[in-house]
Amino acid sequence: MTTDALIREIAAANRILAHFGVVDAFGHISHRDPTNPKRFFLSRSKSPELVEPEDIMVFNLDGSVADGRLDKPYLERFIHAGIFEANPEIMSVVHSHALEVLPFSISTVPLVPVIHTASHCGGHIPVWDIADNFGDTGLLVTNLEQGRDLARTLAKSRVALMRGHGFAAAGRNIGEVLKVSIYLPQNARVMMDAMRLGGGVKALSAREIEIRDEGGPGGRELDRAMEYWAAKAGASHLLPPRR
Ligand SMILES: [Zn+2]
Repeated sequence: MTTDALIREIAAANRILAHFGVVDAFGHISHRDPTNPKRFFLSRSKSPELVEPEDIMVFNLDGSVADGRLDKPYLERFIHAGIFEANPEIMSVVHSHALEVLPFSISTVPLVPVIHTASHCGGHIPVWDIADNFGDTGLLVTNLEQGRDLARTLAKSRVALMRGHGFAAAGRNIGEVLKVSIYLPQNARVMMDAMRLGGGVKALSAREIEIRDEGGPGGRELDRAMEYWAAKAGASHLLPPRR
């Protein structure tokens, strides 16, 4: 994929996350630069639903602007910087304030995958509490040390909740990170509804998660999902025609 095509896909991914309510005025998605792994692409500070390809800027892994642009960057770009720096396999990162996951970020009840579409979130979803190492803050990730600390909690998981704030998801491509980001809040909603019914909640078993993960969240099924998501979000024109 050319850099131009990737940038258009990042713009489409912004619209997709907004359409599915994963992000609103806030939240973002980034992608590592495949031609220079020490850099990543992320929109200038703009609401995701409104992002155009020309809004995508280039950043270094310390969160500094790499392309000399003077546009205002997102305050929380260090989430992306920290995660890309920590794990070279990660190519795309989402940060969201999705309401559905927040109860699980502030209670002792762990969020676990309970629906098949959320199996790729993994059996263990860690919770990062910024107060553990940084005390009282505005809860936003505003420097590289905080981004690195979040990345350490995320470790090899695909998603980490952020206490009282949202979540950060990481994937090997845009489709993978979109899938996790779209289905995690749906999973949280189903789990919460089930808990309201009373009684116990049955999570996917470790083996069920493993079986569903054997092919990874990628493949042709994901192409189909990308095509659908982009159409729903009115962003089909940003993706290359599907073969
Ligand atoms: Zn945030």
